[in-house]
Formats: sequence, C-alpha cells, structure tokens
Amino acid sequence: MSAVVYLALGSNLGDRLANLQAAQKALPPAVRVLSASPVYETPPWGYADQPAFLNQALEVETELTPQDLLKTLKSLEVRLGRTPGPRYGPRQIDLDILFYDDLVFETSDLTIPHPRIEERAFVLTPLADIAPDLRHPVTGLTIREMLQRVDRRGIQRFEQQKTG
Ligand code: ADP
Ligand code: MG
Repeated sequence: MSAVVYLALGSNLGDRLANLQAAQKALPPAVRVLSASPVYETPPWGYADQPAFLNQALEVETELTPQDLLKTLKSLEVRLGRTPGPRYGPRQIDLDILFYDDLVFETSDLTIPHPRIEERAFVLTPLADIAPDLRHPVTGLTIREMLQRVDRRGIQRFEQQKTG
C-alpha cells in the first residue's frame, strides 16, 4: 500500500537551486516523485534578516510510514549540509511533510497536515501549481482557496540565470 504525500522543499543558503535538486535526487526508492512544482523565490519568513528562499512542492508516492518518512527527510537534511540553527532561520535545505493522504495525525515530533500550511504563501503557491483542488482534511478548504486568503507579495517564479 502506498500513500500520496506532498512535500515542501526550501533553501536559502549556498547554491539554493542545486540544494533543491539534490534533495529530490537523494530521495530513496521508497519515495517516488509523481510531480514537481516550479521553483519560486520567496521573501524570508520568521526572521526577516536572512537571504530569500527558493521553495518548491513535490507530490510523491511512498510506502514509508509518516514517522519513517520524517526520519528519512531529517537525515537527508543533514546529509545535504544542514547544520543546527534557529527555527525558521537560514538553512541549506528544509524538507517538510505537508499532507500524507488525508491523514490527520499528531505526535510530539510530527504533525500532519503540517500545522502552518494555511498561513504560508511560500508553501501554497508552489503547491497550487500541482494540486489546486487538494482539500485540507480538517478544514475542507482546497489549496486554491487557501492561497486566495494569504498575502502573495514578493513571491515570484525563479528563472534560472543563464550564463554565456
Ligand atoms: P520548520 O520546518 O518549521 O522551519 P524545522 O525544519 O527545524 O522547522 O523542524 C522542526 C521540527 O518540526 C522537526 O524536527 C520535526 O520533528 C517537526 N515537525 C512536525 N511536523 C512536521 C512535518 N509535518 N514535517 C516536517 N517536520 C515536522
Ligand atoms: Mg522543517
């Protein structure tokens, strides 16, 4: 039995685009990408005094349990160079679980759906590109409806700089 899961990727240190790509490439065989959103550049959130983020959403299918998926993502963050720092602070890579089928689940280290989806335009904007009609299992709102309620200022499609 596999689950359909939505992941949020973020990076604001180092080669941000390479970090997003490396994270996607490093996912284990038990986590298969079904669809990847465009990449957006987004203003920092939480601490304003830090570089802009690149954000992306992935739709994946997986046999991993939510807990095993979280473990996998956390070890991937470390492998990709994330060092401990403040919550919401700068990071090479941040990997969050947004939705896991329509599971509603909470433990001390894992909350599904991710508790701050509705307030984060940087999560909703890429997610709306790949899953506009997906419904939040608790509120019943679609991604498109949630996106209409947040402030999207400063978020723009990230076009890779062409050299030469
Ligand atoms: P944030 O992503 O909120 O900026 P961190 O990446 O430092 O912060 O994550 C803090 C903790 O959030 C993680 O160690 C993890 O245990 C917990 N967490 C709770 N729910 C989730 C989720 N749905 N996805 C990822 N991490 C989660
Ligand atoms: Mg995180």
